[in-house]
Amino acid sequence: MLSKNFLAKIPQLMQTNDLMEKIVSLCKRRGFIFQSSEIYGGLNGAWDYGPLGAELKRNVKNAWWKAVVHEREDIVGLDASILMHPRTWDASGHTANFADILVDCKKCNNRFRQDHLKGKCPVCGANDFTEGRAFNLMFKTQVGAVEDEKGICYLRPETAQGIFVNFANVLDSTHRRLPFGIAQIGKSFRNEVTAGNFIFRCREFEQMEIEYFTKPADAEECHKAWIEARFNWYLNLGIKKENLQLRVHDKDELAHYAKGCSDIEYNFPFGWSELEGIANRTDYDLKQHSQFSGKDLQYQDPVTNEKIFPYVIEPSGGVDRATLAFLVDAYHEETVNEQTRVVLRFSKELAPIKVAVLPLLKKNADIVALAKNIKKDLQKSFSCVYDDTAAIGKLYRRQDEVGTFYCVTVDVDSLEDKQVTVRDRDTMTQIRIPVDNIKQYLAEKF
Ligand SMILES: [Zn+2]
Repeated sequence: MLSKNFLAKIPQLMQTNDLMEKIVSLCKRRGFIFQSSEIYGGLNGAWDYGPLGAELKRNVKNAWWKAVVHEREDIVGLDASILMHPRTWDASGHTANFADILVDCKKCNNRFRQDHLKGKCPVCGANDFTEGRAFNLMFKTQVGAVEDEKGICYLRPETAQGIFVNFANVLDSTHRRLPFGIAQIGKSFRNEVTAGNFIFRCREFEQMEIEYFTKPADAEECHKAWIEARFNWYLNLGIKKENLQLRVHDKDELAHYAKGCSDIEYNFPFGWSELEGIANRTDYDLKQHSQFSGKDLQYQDPVTNEKIFPYVIEPSGGVDRATLAFLVDAYHEETVNEQTRVVLRFSKELAPIKVAVLPLLKKNADIVALAKNIKKDLQKSFSCVYDDTAAIGKLYRRQDEVGTFYCVTVDVDSLEDKQVTVRDRDTMTQIRIPVDNIKQYLAEKF
C-alpha cells in the first residue's frame, strides 16, 4: 500500500514537472529559447536565445553590470578573450585537476561519472565497470595553421582567469587602491559529461564574475558583504524570497585553497540548485600566476610601500541559470473569464518588451498610422513592439504571455479625442490617456 505521505506528494511532483514542460514549451513557442541547430536534430547541451530571449538575457546582464560596475565606486569592467595562453590553465590547476572520473559499463558500454554511480549500472543493472579514467572538461582546440603540441589551446572553462592575468594591467592603468574589484561577463565552455535541465547545465554558457581584491585581514567581512549584496540583487529583480536560499559549503566541499564558499540557490522545478557561488579564494590565484609567469603580481601599498598578495572574494554567477530562474519565477497562471491567462510577471527592468502598441482595427488606415507613429516615438525610450496580427483580446494575451508591461491601444475614438487606452499587465486595468502624455506617463512608471 502506498503511504499517505507518498500520495500527498503526487500532485506536487506533477505540478513541478508540468511547470518545467510549460516553460520549455512557452520558450520555444514565443521565441525565448530554441534548441541549438534544431533542424539537424539539435546539439546536446547547447541552446540558442531567440528574439525575446536575447532581450531578456541582455536585460539580466545589463542589470548585473549596472549593479556591480556602474552603481559602485570600487569596481571596473573587463572583457578578456576566450582563448588564453595555455600556461594559464597550468597555473590555475585546470590542466591537471579539472576532470571528472569516468567509468564504462563492460556489459552495455555506457559511460558514467563514477561519483554519480550507486553500485549497479543504471542502464543494464550489471555491476562490472572499467577502471576510472580522468576526463578533462576543457575543450581543446588548435591555434594557427600548424597542428602540433605547441598550438594546443583551450576554450576557457571560466572567465575568472582572464581577470587574474590582467590584475597588474588594470592596477597600472586605473591607479586603484585596495579594496577594488574587476567584473566580467563572458562565455565559458565545459565539456560536461551530462548536460541537462534545459539551459541550467550547458556545455557553452555565460558567466558574470567579479574578482574583488581586498587586504587579507578584511577578507572575511568582505565575503559576508558580498553574499548579502548578491542575494539582494536577485530579490530586487523580483525573485520571490521563498524561492531563494543560501547554502554554506561544508569544509570537505571546498577547494584546498578556499577559506569559504556560499551558494545562492534557487528552487527550480527540478529542485534547489546553484545560481551563484560566492567564494573566498584567498591569495591563491595571484600567487599561482606570479609563480608560473615570473611576473610579480603583488599589490604595493602607496603609503607604506608594503607589498602583499591581496585576498580575493569571487561572486560567480551563471547568466543562463539566472535567466532560467527569472523565467520560472515570473511564470504565473490565473483564470480570467473561465479561461487560463498565462503571464510572465517580469520586473520592469527585465521585461523584454516594455510597451506594445496595438491598433484596434487594422483595416482603418488612420488608426494604423497613429499607432505606428506612437510606437516610433516611444521606441526611442522603451523597447516597444507594434502588432496588428490578431483581434485585440488575443493580442493582449500574447503580450501577457511574454511579460510586456503595458499595452497602448489606439481605437476609433483616439482619432477624435486624441486619447489612447493604456492597459496594465498585472492588474489588467485600463485607463485613457492623452496621446501627448503617454511618454511621460510611461517614463514615470519605469
Ligand atoms: Zn550497463
